[in-house]
Amino acid sequence: MGAACRRRLWPVALATAKKQVTIPTRPQWPVALATEAPVVDRDAAAAPGVGPDPAAQAPLDARRLAVARLWAVSRHPYLAAAIFASPVVAVPGLGKVTVDESWRLYVDPELVEQWSVEVLGSLLVHHAGHLVRDHAGRARSLGVSEHVTKDWALAADAEINDDLINTGLRFPSEPVLPQKFGWEPSRLAEEYFHCDHPDSEAEPDCGSGADAQTRSWELLADRKSGLPPGERHLTRAQVASDVLRYCEEGRGRMSKSWLRWAEDMLDPQVDWRRVLAAEIRKGVGTTAGLVDYTYKRPSRRAAASPDVVLPAMERPVPEVVVLCDTSGSMGQNQLARLLAEVDGLLRGVGLGRSRLRVLAVDAAVHAVQRVSSGRRLELLGGGGTDMGAGVMAAAKLRPRPSVIVVLTDGLTPWPAAAPKGIAVVVGLIGGGRAKGNRTWEPPGWARVVHIDAA
Ligand SMILES: [Zn+2]
Repeated sequence: MGAACRRRLWPVALATAKKQVTIPTRPQWPVALATEAPVVDRDAAAAPGVGPDPAAQAPLDARRLAVARLWAVSRHPYLAAAIFASPVVAVPGLGKVTVDESWRLYVDPELVEQWSVEVLGSLLVHHAGHLVRDHAGRARSLGVSEHVTKDWALAADAEINDDLINTGLRFPSEPVLPQKFGWEPSRLAEEYFHCDHPDSEAEPDCGSGADAQTRSWELLADRKSGLPPGERHLTRAQVASDVLRYCEEGRGRMSKSWLRWAEDMLDPQVDWRRVLAAEIRKGVGTTAGLVDYTYKRPSRRAAASPDVVLPAMERPVPEVVVLCDTSGSMGQNQLARLLAEVDGLLRGVGLGRSRLRVLAVDAAVHAVQRVSSGRRLELLGGGGTDMGAGVMAAAKLRPRPSVIVVLTDGLTPWPAAAPKGIAVVVGLIGGGRAKGNRTWEPPGWARVVHIDAA
């Protein structure tokens, strides 16, 4: 990377808008200093001692950026904490604005000059959306690999822009919207990711803050200039509470999906069905992310090179197995009802009912049943429980499951490690963790969802 902006080492730490910051006197910028986040000197941070030539590049117009921030916050006040949190890194010649996982904002000083305040401000709102909604963390839990980064980037942009499009924002290019791909509005990026992706010219690149793939111009994650994970979480919580207050005060229109996000962020007592569905979706997504090359159908890029047969990408269809704890401590009616709900959840995440296999497990593992409805399930067993044996038996099934959902009261031993390459979601029914004189803990390697048995 060549020479960067003029050295401007300001005290780094404007973590949120509310934090006290010491700002050195800059008489030439009398206004709006309080709205500016620190500007990180990229070269000084990357290679101490190597001094950039101050005259070589146009300096970053921090005041113009501050005005864009004010513009963004005047349109979306509930995003203020996030918009002010990002430290700015000038990257001459970058040709875009991006964010990284530590919430740093990378800007090309030339574009700050060229773009209108509206366009700059709109991008700040868009990128704050990626950070607040944790698109990087979600991409990672979904197992989004380099091959499918573009699909994820489109899905994440669709999720954000969908909520912003009628709020008067102006983007430098056509924004990605769900309608353009034939996707339903107001869905999550995970859902868009699994939708069909028609060929698209759009190549969104919003940085690792949107997809968890590090870019060459980004500073290392351990550099002090970024936001530590704890502060990222606090900033998200601040935004969530500002979203709710904004709605309560009736200050403006708010999309349903922002509201849903804020409620989920602040209220951990969410409906277990939603949590379980999200966990199953993540598990399904992890295997769906494991794409492979296939020659069974033509590549999307085939037209570009007619003489060469290019492989296309293929995602395996996820297989789900449900394990039901049929030991004496579980009521048959309760299990049948739960299973019917889980069946519904699986269909909700796009898995056909023919794919559902159920194993009745107590101390032994009973036959695999393919069920079309929870009511048809014959629950065998009774007696002691060993769901660990059930998990191992399920892992040996063919076709091999990619997700195992375990419905249990939790009074059971577990294997020491997860079966390789299989996501395990444990639905813990009821609050009891003690039997006899020992307490039982769900395994650390599984995703655990507490199910209210009432
Ligand atoms: Zn984006």
